[in-house]
Amino acid sequence: MAFIIKDEHRTDLEKTIKRLDSSFFFYDLDALKEHLEHLSTVMDKDIRLWYACKANPLSAILKIFRNLGFGLDVASKGELDHVLSSGIKASEVIATGPSKSRKYMRELLKNDVKNIVCESINQVKWLNEAANELNVRPQVLLRLQLEWNEGKSVLGGDDITPFGEDYETWSQLNCKDYPHIDINGLHIFQWGNIMDISQLKKIWWKIAQTSKDLAQKIDLELKVLDLGGGIGIPYDLATSPVQAQSVNEALIELKEKFQLKKVWMELGRYAVGPFGKYFTQVIDRKTVRGREILVTDGGINHIVRPAITNQSFPAQMFRKSEKENGKFFVHGPLCTAIDFLGEFDLPTDINEGDWLCFHQAGAYGFTEAMPFFLCHNLPAEVIMYQGDFMTPRTPKTSTDWLV
Ligand SMILES: *Cc1c(COP(=O)(O)O)cnc(C)c1O
Repeated sequence: MAFIIKDEHRTDLEKTIKRLDSSFFFYDLDALKEHLEHLSTVMDKDIRLWYACKANPLSAILKIFRNLGFGLDVASKGELDHVLSSGIKASEVIATGPSKSRKYMRELLKNDVKNIVCESINQVKWLNEAANELNVRPQVLLRLQLEWNEGKSVLGGDDITPFGEDYETWSQLNCKDYPHIDINGLHIFQWGNIMDISQLKKIWWKIAQTSKDLAQKIDLELKVLDLGGGIGIPYDLATSPVQAQSVNEALIELKEKFQLKKVWMELGRYAVGPFGKYFTQVIDRKTVRGREILVTDGGINHIVRPAITNQSFPAQMFRKSEKENGKFFVHGPLCTAIDFLGEFDLPTDINEGDWLCFHQAGAYGFTEAMPFFLCHNLPAEVIMYQGDFMTPRTPKTSTDWLV
């Protein structure tokens, strides 16, 4: 699979570059919609897909999910407010996240959110109290944290994290002590960005087995098993993308083997990642102690993931060039060596004024970054929607937010 800039976008992108003259994200919402339609067509009726909006909460994106019948996963009051004001119905919202206060629980219920994932015994208690007080009946999943022997992940992997409670703790739970909520199932999610379907299956099988055991132990009817997210996207040319069809087949197999009624997932990266690109300008080029260096207008202030995960987004020069490629180290504008976007093969005539395009940047881009450090411009956000280019977010300069 090649990462490309579509020819039909080129003229509009050139105009956008001239007009904004500042770094920006570009999302192809027409391609996103096609991908989501395909996902919906392929998936079995007992598999429910939600969109984990922390991956990219741009309202134009939320509306695409809404219009195609996906539910929305929110992990904060800010996301909740934004999702509701973007026109998503509260009945189509699921609330996850380890930091839920009593106050937030009440807010969720007052806003008619029905599906809530409890990540601690305290949360179960607080939600039960709030439901009683407000006379509503939320549908609840308990988040379980499993022990693994197989490595690290941004979601924890085998590390001990604040997500959920362990098996021992939940096995002490007596569902009857919480008469004002319906505990419908379990939620387990500890592995992010997994590309290999057999590895996903290994994880899902263990999750299902342990969930069945726990459910039986505490006399919980497992109506829903929520596997979280974690389906990966390639950040290099060597890896091929995960096919929706193979995800569906694996989930059906899982469902049948463990006699599950409903399987839920909240997708982030796999849903939106491939449909965004990040554009930034080369500000300077130099050779330092034998190494070719490019310094760009935007770096981890706009797109922090390379610094967190040590994995770069695949990059390309926007201008077409016939020159042979050479190795370049690309650094953002911040006064810290961690502002490093990666090592890339780029045409040797690349220079000051050229633009770089980073692919696969639709998820964990704009809102994950550290935009305020050093007071450079915030990136703009540009979309392709029904064949037209639009700019829902123009670049913001420091005078817009610095006080
Ligand atoms: C972030 C998150 C997701 C989405 O994860 P991806 O790996 O991007 O699919 C799903 N569920 C929960 C609870 C999350 O926090």
